[in-house]
Amino acid sequence: MSERKDFLRTIVADDLKAGKYDEVVTRFPPEPNGFPHIGHAKSIAINFGIARDYDGHCNLRMDDTNPTTEDTKYVEALKDAVEWLGFDWGDSVYFTSDYFPKIYDYAIELIKMGKAYVDSLNEEEIREYRGTVNEVGKRSKYAQRSVEENLDLFERMKNGEFKEGEHILRAKIDMTAANMKMRDPLMYRIRHVHHFRTGDEWAVYPMYDFAHCLSDYIEGVSHSICTLEFENNRDVYNWVLDTLGLEPPRPYQHEFARLGINYTMMSKRKLLELVQSGVVNGWDDPRLPTIAGYKRKGYTPESILNFCDQIGIAKANSMVDVSQLEFCIRDDLNTKVPRVMCVINPLKVSIINYEGSEELDASYYPEDVPKEGSRKLPFSKEIYIDRDDFMENPSKGYFRLTPDQPVRLKHAYIIECKEIIKDADGDIVEIKAHYYPKSKSGADTSGIKVKSAIQWVDAATAKEVEVRLYDRLFSCESPEGIEDINPDSLKVIKSALIEPVVITEKPDERFQFEREGYFYADPVDYSDEKPVFNKIVGLKDSWAKKSKENKPKSQAKKVQIDGEVIPMSEAEQVLFEKYQNELGLNSEVANTLARDEQLSSFYEAALSIHNTPITLANIISNEVARELKEKTLSSLKFTAVQVAELVKMLDDTTISNKIAKLVFEEMVKSGDNPTQIVEAKGLIQISDPSKIAPIIDEIIEKNSENVAKFKAGNTKLLGFFVGQVLKATGGKANPKVVNALVAEKLQ
Ligand code: ATP
Ligand code: MG
Repeated sequence: MSERKDFLRTIVADDLKAGKYDEVVTRFPPEPNGFPHIGHAKSIAINFGIARDYDGHCNLRMDDTNPTTEDTKYVEALKDAVEWLGFDWGDSVYFTSDYFPKIYDYAIELIKMGKAYVDSLNEEEIREYRGTVNEVGKRSKYAQRSVEENLDLFERMKNGEFKEGEHILRAKIDMTAANMKMRDPLMYRIRHVHHFRTGDEWAVYPMYDFAHCLSDYIEGVSHSICTLEFENNRDVYNWVLDTLGLEPPRPYQHEFARLGINYTMMSKRKLLELVQSGVVNGWDDPRLPTIAGYKRKGYTPESILNFCDQIGIAKANSMVDVSQLEFCIRDDLNTKVPRVMCVINPLKVSIINYEGSEELDASYYPEDVPKEGSRKLPFSKEIYIDRDDFMENPSKGYFRLTPDQPVRLKHAYIIECKEIIKDADGDIVEIKAHYYPKSKSGADTSGIKVKSAIQWVDAATAKEVEVRLYDRLFSCESPEGIEDINPDSLKVIKSALIEPVVITEKPDERFQFEREGYFYADPVDYSDEKPVFNKIVGLKDSWAKKSKENKPKSQAKKVQIDGEVIPMSEAEQVLFEKYQNELGLNSEVANTLARDEQLSSFYEAALSIHNTPITLANIISNEVARELKEKTLSSLKFTAVQVAELVKMLDDTTISNKIAKLVFEEMVKSGDNPTQIVEAKGLIQISDPSKIAPIIDEIIEKNSENVAKFKAGNTKLLGFFVGQVLKATGGKANPKVVNALVAEKLQ
């Protein structure tokens, strides 16, 4: 356990001290509707971690109350993830659906107490009757039904006698409550669907608010830890357990901030879209932030747990820099894995004054690493170096091989370029070199000075391998989906060359390829005939420079502090409720806006001009908020009116999401009107199929190989074509239109 206790552990420790519980019992309650992602890892680390730290236990519970989206393959993925992270859920996995009979009985009990009723208003009426933050709600006339009538109707709902939406079961709490969640919340709804575990047994399914607290109670959970968006549900949680007068001890809910990482998209729904569209190769694509993706890419469980530990547990939502996660894996592998040589882009070098062959001693680890181990490196007259390590006309500060500059071959000799051989096109195909016999690594008496050492492999013994160079999946900080994909997120090198022991002796699964990065033997596609290595991460943060202007790196860390949440003022609370309940914002965004007076006034001003609450809120809580971190409202060059104008263009599809971001950047710099910027730069979204079709035709023509593969059944390539078209239009093509057209043309 880290020395400083986070606020959750403080609560747990206090409860134990006060004798509230004999044992700490937590649970991790995912909905099995997608593969778990790094956000879930955070929740797993917290729930299982706390249980372990206090000698309790943590249940793995599938929250399977939404039958249409759930599937056993997701259950398996969730189990895999927990296990891989090194946690143990005990004898069995729990399912909320196992408690359906008990939960049903509790509902009957509430009906008998006069605390629940069958309502028959339609959806729209229910919404209307609920009122708003400023207006109390009013109770449905059906709330007066007698206990007998309610019991009868509820039983018939269960038996499938009614259509979906005809009736619902509601708790009878308070239609005037300030917390709108308490205005007679829904407990059961009718669903005529097949459930992957209970089949067609049930025609009613319990709602989260009713099922969750009771499942916790049934399992003897002591601390029910969830993310901030459930803050307002806490009152319902308590009401249900208290009203039923259950025998103590009972669980209590505690909330922490969701993990958000820049350049990463974390909703299971959006990830499912990426998987289904074929932009990525399945849920375990190494570019995805799924646990299965990190695992396949080569991340270690330790690195992910360290990351979760480092960022701490916060009470306010914020964004973590993805480079922090990349740092954790680099840091973990740095001292653990052997260093070997792989030449990714080979250039032949013939050493004209070398005869025969030899085996050189080469340590797997540098001197400052405590691990030991070494291998023999074959060396002979013909070797390969990387093309990037030779320059005929070097730029200033280039320290590797040039016509005038010798270089050291790592673990071997110093060589010097004598002649450059080119093909008919003028491309360099070979270097003829001399080596210095007295310059052998570890016994150098040559006196020759070099400025760097490069990797190489011996031509006669090197093995050919496939190397998959992964980079970040998204090229922007808060990606929305397919249109923000980094076109260079995967490069496949079919014939890189690696020193032989890596393949013949397999000293490890993970390696540092000297000067290239960390790599992992792909657990699915690797075979002795065709070894495949995935790039886990580079040696340095290659994105640091690119994003430096946007955001100082330390900032993300600074806001992640442990501590108590500052309560909202009354005015903030009113805004928060309005944003969440009336305008339909998610609780994170509503929270960000409501708690910041500058942002909320900016938001209100923009709303009064163009009423698209959700899109406006997203832009203001992200992009505008970022600008306001460094500036005051009055020093911003752009105005709320202009942001409203920008959103209007998004809404009427004049511009795409991607372009909107570009335009916003320009507004920040120049203060020009978005319409002006769009016109001046020709950024109008292209939605006209007759303009897009020729671009698609061209791309189809250029990629005949992929077309053939697609037609042969590799439908995953659809995403490739869509991406190419978007790229060719500089992001201006309307992604929806492109998707439809490409699918049509490839048929
Ligand atoms: P998503 O929106 O990505 O589908 P979710 O919240 O619907 O996620 P669940 O499967 O319902 O996912 O969540 C299981 C547990 O994981 C919950 O307790 C939830 O609070 C937690 N969790 C999900 N995403 C995150 C995250 N980004 N950070 C921390 N915890 C998370
Ligand atoms: Mg969910």
